[in-house]
Amino acid sequence: MSNLQPVHDAAMHLDGPIYVTQPYLPPLEEFIPYLEKIWNKKVLTNGGPFHQQLEKALSDYLGLEHIALFANGTLALVTALQALRITGEVITAPYSFVATAHSLLWNSIKPVFVDIDPKTLNLDPEKIEAAITPQTTAIMPVHCYGHPCDVEAIQKIADNYNLKVIYDAAHAFGVQDQGGSILRHGDLSVLSFHATKVFNTFEGGAIVCPDAKTKLRIDHLKNFGFVDEVTVVAAGINGKMSEINAAFGMLQLQHIDHALARRREITAIYRELLADIEGIRCIEDAGETVANYSYFPILVESGYGTNRDGLYERLKEQGIFSRRYFYPLISDFPMYRSLVSAHRDNLPVATETARKVLCLPIYPGLQHHDIQRIVECIAQ
Ligand SMILES: *Cc1c(COP(=O)(O)O)cnc(C)c1O
Repeated sequence: MSNLQPVHDAAMHLDGPIYVTQPYLPPLEEFIPYLEKIWNKKVLTNGGPFHQQLEKALSDYLGLEHIALFANGTLALVTALQALRITGEVITAPYSFVATAHSLLWNSIKPVFVDIDPKTLNLDPEKIEAAITPQTTAIMPVHCYGHPCDVEAIQKIADNYNLKVIYDAAHAFGVQDQGGSILRHGDLSVLSFHATKVFNTFEGGAIVCPDAKTKLRIDHLKNFGFVDEVTVVAAGINGKMSEINAAFGMLQLQHIDHALARRREITAIYRELLADIEGIRCIEDAGETVANYSYFPILVESGYGTNRDGLYERLKEQGIFSRRYFYPLISDFPMYRSLVSAHRDNLPVATETARKVLCLPIYPGLQHHDIQRIVECIAQ
């Protein structure tokens, strides 16, 4: 590690814990005027002025036309499936956060787990067809770590078999490919604005819709199924984003470019400093033209001095809290195991990745000396 200066002046920061993420928060005083507006108007929810403003502002920022805000990403996933009347079986990735598959169970849909591609860590299009049955109605891929899925290959399969595609795009805020936002692909895309995500509204989420009609349907479903004061057309949920979260989102949008730029810098530093450490492999981008650097996953390969869990523990002993994300696979959780037959044999890439992966701390406030301290610990 010749390019890494030992940190001798580190007394002031050596002992402080470093967490895998730290939510981005603008200066508190900037939020007060937003609160005053809410207090003056006394509209707290039900699609109030900030809710409307944020839907418009996010559409503009992301270059999309129709966005329906939600209280969180999980309710948005559950509602997306209902909006398209998805039933039976849905093909999805085992290498994801558990909410992806939970949203299927909340709709009494059977998740069918298909292996991931070793390069992108996204659903492997070549393995999808073999998992299609007469009960299959949709594919729910995940843009893992904000790296785009092979959207064209997935769409082709969906067209051939007349399946819907709902992207779990919880990691993919702001990511673009040649044609613009990757959120425009598929029938619907679902975002999360949870505190740990690149763009946060404390809790929050959204569905990206292809047209105004679909958004209207989704707006009804997130408000108990009301279409007007006296008409309820579905067992809709209460999935509405409150005014306080929407107002916070308006403020966050003013800081998002700065936050993304910092993530980009941190990613570049990590890549440079980790490049020479044997057995540590950084995950490459998947062809996006604009990335969001939402996570910094590494794979701990056999050439490294210890295994993934060994490194995870060593970091922890030094107050550095990385995250085994995603481990275990969703299909390995006891409650999912009974749903999947012999899945281990069918999911070799996902299984191996879950065994090797470690997400290192990344957030806009992470300092250069923090990164040095993390890399030194890995290089030991
Ligand atoms: C965060 C996340 C969700 C859930 O979003 P919430 O807003 O926390 O409900 C779903 N899928 C993935 C891949 C996520 O990372």
